[in-house]
Formats: sequence, C-alpha cells, structure tokens
Amino acid sequence: MKNIVIIGGGPAGLEAASQLKKFGYNVILVEKSNQLGGHLAKWDRLFPDFTPAEEVLSTLISNLQGVTYFLNTEIVRIYNLQNSYNIIMNNGITVLADAVLICSGFDLFKAEKKEEYGYGIYERVITNADLEQFFKENSKSKIEKDTPVKIGFVHCVGSRDEKVGNRNCSKVCCATAVKQACEIKQMYPNAEVFCFYMDLRMFGRGYENLYYSAQKDYGIRFIRGRVSEVSEDIEKRVIVKAEDTLSGKPIKVTLDALVLMSGMQNSCSGAKTAKLMNVETADDGYFACKDSLYHLQESESKGVFYAGACTGPKTIPDTLSEARAAAIQVHNYLKEK
Ligand SMILES: Cc1cc2nc3c(=O)[nH]c(=O)nc-3n(C[C@H](O)[C@H](O)[C@H](O)COP(=O)(O)OP(=O)(O)OC[C@H]3O[C@@H](n4cnc5c(N)ncnc54)[C@H](O)[C@@H]3O)c2cc1C
Ligand code: SF4
Repeated sequence: MKNIVIIGGGPAGLEAASQLKKFGYNVILVEKSNQLGGHLAKWDRLFPDFTPAEEVLSTLISNLQGVTYFLNTEIVRIYNLQNSYNIIMNNGITVLADAVLICSGFDLFKAEKKEEYGYGIYERVITNADLEQFFKENSKSKIEKDTPVKIGFVHCVGSRDEKVGNRNCSKVCCATAVKQACEIKQMYPNAEVFCFYMDLRMFGRGYENLYYSAQKDYGIRFIRGRVSEVSEDIEKRVIVKAEDTLSGKPIKVTLDALVLMSGMQNSCSGAKTAKLMNVETADDGYFACKDSLYHLQESESKGVFYAGACTGPKTIPDTLSEARAAAIQVHNYLKEK
C-alpha cells in the first residue's frame, strides 16, 4: 500500500486525510501541536450562520478512522529518493512517503507589531482570537446581560498594510468582525458596538445578509475611516480617535474594550517546511503554487502538494474544498506512478 504523509492537522489536513484514506492509501498525519483542528479548534462559532466550530471539528475528527496521526510531532529531515521521500520525525519514526501533502496553514498576525493600537500595552485592547476564547469560555456562563458595554472593532490589522509587509486582504476578518459584533449584542443587548473599517469585504454567500442583520437587527454602527489614535483613561477604558470619512467629521469614543481584527499571514513553520521539502515560497511568504489558475494544489517538486491556508488566506469551506481537490490530485499522481 502507498504511503502519504500529511503535514498539519488543521481543517485542510484532516479533510484530505479522510479522503485519501477512502481512496485506499496508508495516511500518516503529522501535527506539531498537542491537538488536532488547527485554528478551527480556537474558534467558538463560525460565520456566516453561527455554526458551532466544535460541530465542524468533531465531524472532521470522526472521519479519521484508519488514519495514523502523531501529535506534538514535527519532521526533522527529508531525503528525496527520486520517486519517494524518506521522512524522519522528531519522535524517532521514519516513513517512506510516495507523496507529501503540505497543510501547514497560517499564523495570526501578531497585533503587538501595530504598536499604535496598544495591544499588550492597554489591558482592554484584545484581538479577534482573544474574543473567540472569551466566547468559548463564557457563552454558557451567566453574564449580567443588562450591563451597558461599549465595544469597538478595528478592521485590517496587519493586512493590506505595506508597513508590516502584508499587502494581502485576509478575507475572513470583515466577516469575523461582523459576526463577533452581533455576538456581543446577543450577549449584551444594551451594548453599543462600533466597527471601524476601510472597506467591507463581505464576499461570500450569506455574508451580505449577516451585514444587513448587523445593522437592522443589532444596530451596530459601521464607521468608514482609519483609527488615528488609541489611548487609555484612568479607569483603563480605551479612548479611540478616528475620522469618519463618509461624514468628513472626526470621532472620539471611550470604549470598554477594543477588538483588533488580526489578519492571516504565512506561517513561520511553513517557511521551515519549505526549506526541508525544497519547495518555493512566493513574495508574500505563502507556498508558491505551480501557477495561479489551474495547478493550485501542486508544487514544482514532484509528489509534493498543498491544501488550505498554507497558500493564502481562505475560509473553512474554501479550505475543505481545496483539501478534497488536493486528495484527487495526489490520487491521480499516484495512479500514474
Ligand atoms: C480570527 C479568525 C476567525 C475565523 N473564523 C472563521 C469562520 O467563522 N468561518 C470560516 O469559514 N473561516 C474562519 N476563519 C478561517 C479559518 O480559520 C481557516 O480557513 C482554517 O483554519 C484554515 O485551515 P488550515 O488547515 O489550512 O490551517 P490551520 O487552521 O492554520 O491549521 C494548520 C495546522 O498545521 C499545523 N502545522 C503547521 N506547521 C506544521 C509543521 N511543520 N508540522 C506539523 N504540523 C504543522 C498547525 O499546528 C495547525 O494545526 C477564521 C480565521 C481567523 C483568523
Ligand atoms: S477581510 Fe476586511 S478586515 Fe480583513 S483584511 Fe480584508 S478588508 Fe481588511
């Protein structure tokens, strides 16, 4: 039986593993962290329809029967043997792989790099990922719903930003901001919620409905303009100054919390993997596909394939579709081998 090694146990790796197992291959999945699920395991509910992330993750994991997987494991060396790869892992196990599928995903932009927003300096400046963690921990606990809180969201943190070297739009953070803004209102109906955005990119099916509902049902205020200054008052509330470019007026609000929409960027561990596998990364740091239209799951190295956010920002449905497409590409390659 032919061996396939999958690097990364996020949504892409899990979906590809179950598909390739169904094709009859021996699948070995290597995950460097102590759990399966990648970023999906950190999210509470998903846009556009608030599906619990746990529901999607448990389906992906339940489809893994017959797949061998190693947690807390990384590949330390790879030897290219013409028609296969000799792969050595840090758990001492060696595998001869007929094909390798890279699913190493993305890193969340480190918000502290945008010092002007005060993440890591002001207590009540948090990221979208911190807020997901808060929802995970508190959605079932009793919260004083009548508390009148004021929350702001800043879009495009670390994305579309030459200064931090990332011109890409992260695609998922407008929809995440709108979803999280609605969730704040579900939790605290008296909350006042502001979204500071440059453009709203609600491109997917059902996303525009979510945006419509955010305005009509939840009364969220969307302010088009860049945040120019963030500071803290004596009670540790966050003072935000921005310019409303639609009305042409400056705006100043004092908030109980400011949520930074940190974007997606290429993963550091992906860069390490690229070196090990001797495959190329593009100028934006993500893995380079063979071309930009037709061979998105293929690398220039024979027998090495990609799926998911390791080649650029993607939603979960896009990631899962790519994983299935990659499984077919790997299958076609192995059939002809
Ligand atoms: C704040 C935020 C909220 C989001 N919410 C939604 C949402 O509501 N709906 C939606 O559709 N999408 C959402 N997304 C997008 C979603 O998270 C991604 O589409 C998805 O996680 C991509 O899956 P992946 O498997 O490609 O990568 P990842 O989820 O990043 O998984 C990669 C895995 O590979 C592992 N790995 C990396 N390098 C190695 C290595 N060298 N060796 C072994 N293992 C390795 C990592 O530990 C990780 O487990 C959100 C994204 C963000 C930033
Ligand atoms: S999805 Fe929205 S918040 Fe994210 S980078 Fe693109 S425009 Fe900015």
